[in-house]
Amino acid sequence: MRALTEIAPGVLVATSSYDVTTTTVVVGSSGGCLVIDPAVTVAELTGLAGELAAMGLRPAAGWSTHPHWDHVLWSRELGDAPRYAAPSAITVAQTSRDGILDGVRRAAPGHDLELVGRLRSLDAAAIPWDGPEARLVVHDGHAPGHGAVFLPGSGVLVAGDMCSDIEIPLLDTVAADPLGDYRTGMERLASLPGVRQVVPGHGHVGDAGELRRRLGLDRAYLDAVAAGKPAADPRLTAASPQWLRTAHEQQVRYFQR
Ligand SMILES: [Zn+2]
Repeated sequence: MRALTEIAPGVLVATSSYDVTTTTVVVGSSGGCLVIDPAVTVAELTGLAGELAAMGLRPAAGWSTHPHWDHVLWSRELGDAPRYAAPSAITVAQTSRDGILDGVRRAAPGHDLELVGRLRSLDAAAIPWDGPEARLVVHDGHAPGHGAVFLPGSGVLVAGDMCSDIEIPLLDTVAADPLGDYRTGMERLASLPGVRQVVPGHGHVGDAGELRRRLGLDRAYLDAVAAGKPAADPRLTAASPQWLRTAHEQQVRYFQR
């Protein structure tokens, strides 16, 4: 079964069975590709590697948008390309390695844990690789060193765990200023010129209008919880997964302190 869908010339997205998690592949020159957040199950990563090989592509670089377990995966079949993340994401990937491995064991068993979170620190404006310019927008908010990738050539914004149509903003509540960090990151993404499509880490690809709609929902949600008001967010319903409702309740409690 073909999992990758071309959303723009040379930009392909696959969606995992786990939590609507996306993998983005950017096609480079001479058979190389950039793989962002390969996700999630062992079978899906094996399938991804097979599909890339069938297309004559091999990963030339990897990028993890942030140090949460479902965004730092890899498989032997994807090869030994350098895998990068922003410096503060690397720090967290190291200090919270036990929690990351627990998450993998629990929700995506069978991965080679040696490969989980094996990332190189990259402090740069763009990912160094032989392919379309992949600009980095590094900010805090959802997680330290969260790094969105903007592809100016195709107008695709790979937003990591921001700008979702199915998840409310999820704050890093152990940070000194969770709300300020999140708003700063969100507004940096909002102010990027030339975004034509957004790929959230969890959810569905949207166009520029849809990105604006999601950012509007995010601002309204944050304003409400920060003011201690009920957040009537369409992404939060009785049908939402329990973990998302729990995260919302924790955020409400955080601002009530
Ligand atoms: Zn996350």
